[in-house]
Amino acid sequence: PEHISHRRLPTRHRFYADLSQCLFDFVIELLPTGEEMAVKENVRKLLERLIRTIEPESRLLSFGSTANGFSLRNSDMDLCCLIDSEERLSATDLVTMLGDLLERETKFHVKPLPHARIPIVKLSLDPSPGLPLGIACDIGFENRLALENTRLLMCYAMIDPTRVRTLVLFLKVWSKRRKINSPYKGTLSSYGYVLLVIYFLVHVKNPPVLPNLQQMPPLRPITKEDTHLAGYNTWFFDDIELLRTRWHSENTESVAELLIDFFRYYARDFSYNTGVASIRAGLLKKSTKGWQNDLSSGRYNDSRERNRLCIEDPFELDFNVGRCVTKDGIYTIRGEFMRASRILANRPERAVVALAELCM
Ligand code: ATP
Ligand code: MG
Repeated sequence: PEHISHRRLPTRHRFYADLSQCLFDFVIELLPTGEEMAVKENVRKLLERLIRTIEPESRLLSFGSTANGFSLRNSDMDLCCLIDSEERLSATDLVTMLGDLLERETKFHVKPLPHARIPIVKLSLDPSPGLPLGIACDIGFENRLALENTRLLMCYAMIDPTRVRTLVLFLKVWSKRRKINSPYKGTLSSYGYVLLVIYFLVHVKNPPVLPNLQQMPPLRPITKEDTHLAGYNTWFFDDIELLRTRWHSENTESVAELLIDFFRYYARDFSYNTGVASIRAGLLKKSTKGWQNDLSSGRYNDSRERNRLCIEDPFELDFNVGRCVTKDGIYTIRGEFMRASRILANRPERAVVALAELCM
């Protein structure tokens, strides 16, 4: 009846406003302090100086959350070493040599992985009074695509910092607390969750919250040399200042409404069995990418296990960022989306209680 819908409308809006405020407050508490960022920058400089004793022409750059604006307190550091000279050591040799050097010269715990698919040196520092949570850091080599995808995510964050960063940071905390953020255990990496958020904001929301930076017309003619890296097209519209004057989202939904809709979409609507989420091209089909997970495609292979959840990397188009997600993993993740959706759909009296329950 009429009077009920009237009564419900303002309550609903009040709930959205409360929940949005709670989300901002929640996320702000979890941002790294200025001190933590300064310590990390100093660690980067120190490591760069040491690496240059092996490879004088090298630079050590930050990527991942420390560089894309999606970093939480105590998140690990992802570092990438670029070597500008023509003749250089192989990544395997560099990892071994750097491992030895760091073991000798620093207080870090050092674990070189020279024979991993992507050779890296893993470092960690025990907690100390100045660094109560210690530091964890991975150093990789020549991973230029990762630097570019970091820059792409950073640009998306800059277009609408309030909504995009709040959503992403909240989902990172939520996925960690709900234990569905470990590719090693069959669930999804932070990078995967960020791509799911961007996909949702660019391609699912109508009107979209974000433009598609990889499909915008370039300002000047571009050549293949400018845009390709290791055979992949890494071009995207990165003049964010200009974009801010030219592009304006018609979507005025609050962070709370977007979050609720995000959970509902991935609980119910995303086509896990046949769909591929691509921030570059929208919803694609597993069959057109050769990423089916059924048995009909000839002999048994483990691609069946690998392609339960399909998220196309923005540049490495043949790479499924969700490839680590197992059958159990996708069941658990989807169950969590449903649980979150259910908690928020009830519109509990107090938003702060709902958030606590969500992350419990
Ligand atoms: P956290 O704060 O949880 O460490 P993060 O934003 O650093 O989150 P990670 O999942 O640690 O995210 O990934 C760091 C970076 O490594 C990403 O920004 C991306 O450049 C690269 N990366 C991680 N996983 C993949 C992947 N499966 N495919 C391609 N690149 C990846
Ligand atoms: Mg990281």
